[in-house]
Amino acid sequence: MTLRLFDTYEREVRPFVPLDNREVGIYACGPTVYNFVHIGNLRTYLFEDLLKRVLFANGYKVNHVINITDVGHLTSDADTGEDKMEVGARRTGMSAWELADFYTAAFQVDFTKLNILPPDIWCRATDHIEEQIAFIKDLEDKGYTYQTSDGIYFDSQKLDDYGHLARLDIEGLKAGARVDQGERRSVTDFALWKFSPQEEKRQMEWDSPWGRGFPGWHIECSAMSVKYLGDYFDIHCGGEDHIPIHHTNEIAQTEASRGTRLANFWLHGYFLQMENAKMAKASGEFVTLERLIEKGYTPLVYRYFCLTAHYRSQMSFSWENLNAARTALGRLYSAAWSWGEPGEASKIYLQRFTDCLNDDLNMPRALAILWELVKSDEPDPVKKATLLVWDEILALDIQAWRPDSLEIPEQVNELVRQREAARENQDWQGADKLREQIARLGFTLEDGRDGTRLKRSENV
Ligand code: AMP
Ligand code: ZN
Repeated sequence: MTLRLFDTYEREVRPFVPLDNREVGIYACGPTVYNFVHIGNLRTYLFEDLLKRVLFANGYKVNHVINITDVGHLTSDADTGEDKMEVGARRTGMSAWELADFYTAAFQVDFTKLNILPPDIWCRATDHIEEQIAFIKDLEDKGYTYQTSDGIYFDSQKLDDYGHLARLDIEGLKAGARVDQGERRSVTDFALWKFSPQEEKRQMEWDSPWGRGFPGWHIECSAMSVKYLGDYFDIHCGGEDHIPIHHTNEIAQTEASRGTRLANFWLHGYFLQMENAKMAKASGEFVTLERLIEKGYTPLVYRYFCLTAHYRSQMSFSWENLNAARTALGRLYSAAWSWGEPGEASKIYLQRFTDCLNDDLNMPRALAILWELVKSDEPDPVKKATLLVWDEILALDIQAWRPDSLEIPEQVNELVRQREAARENQDWQGADKLREQIARLGFTLEDGRDGTRLKRSENV
């Protein structure tokens, strides 16, 4: 089966044909670097990594661009409120520039830990102010802009099909607009350039033909994607939250300036939801990859966890689900290790796996085939070779795993120590409770003549 992908713009799964023969241009919206990224953000980058690896498996070259938003993303998507970077600078005591460097580096470390392939180009909004001003100037020359007391705005009503990507109900939005429209002509108009406020000195600001200020959030992606990938390229990605505002506005700008919808395919990763908690950077209490590592999970457990859901379905995060992923991955590692040296891969299994992935990246179905192989009667060397081919896409470092790499979370070690102390004090009830707690974390204790042994549970 040839590769088919779901395009949010057309709302259908259709065959993917690259515009330029064999090289596929991908632009993925990067994070706003005012804080650490959370594991929800990372789910989106893991989906994009899967896409890229599937393109490689189909024989394509990829030119992958990710931007870093280090200016202009305001606390409200309605172009009001403060710049998140300036707020972040106040929170941390760093300058806005140091803040950007610090969180960009932290984000890139997460990439490496999760085996996400780095893009060919990282581009920062603040390094492309000139390109953004030129883009706005072009929109102005073509009659798509107007000025208010706080900035230059895009006149969305000048476009016939503004909001097509999100199937926006423009009339409904206008009628129900509870947000303060301010001086904007329509609720769907958005800032291209904001003037620096009179009363405060911004850390990040530049001169422009319209006055001192800073670019709006959406213009950076239109300006940088066009610069690095051209006026019309293959795939634009981001999380589902980008559909109604950010990507809608990127398309509007590019349509007005270049006459294209920017990308041939628009792909969106669906959200990771926290059970009973918010997964929003702005809420301040969110789970980072570092937090998972502190709790004893290896980053690739999180990668495996994300592979178990289709990118177009929302996924709910809980520690139990993560434990289940850890158990499954542990089983896969030790099975693969026990198979010894690879022989020749099974063409039939390889084909079935590829067919699932080429069907709009259906990784959950591909994983079901993987487990079928694990349980099958295929000879061990065949199983091993097949799995190693798949690991080019899974990127779980299957070949590198050794039994002694069983990592015990510090939390479990601590509970084991407490249980030993309880047993020394002959507190058998306490010891049993601790054993149950340890079991809930996915480990079993076996008390033997030569001491107590800790094993990963077979069925969590
Ligand atoms: P941001 O830094 O908020 O611009 O987000 C960076 C990327 O993460 C964007 O592609 C967002 O769409 C995506 N994203 C934000 N929250 C989540 C979430 N809970 N689950 C999955 N992706 C998310
Ligand atoms: Zn963007």
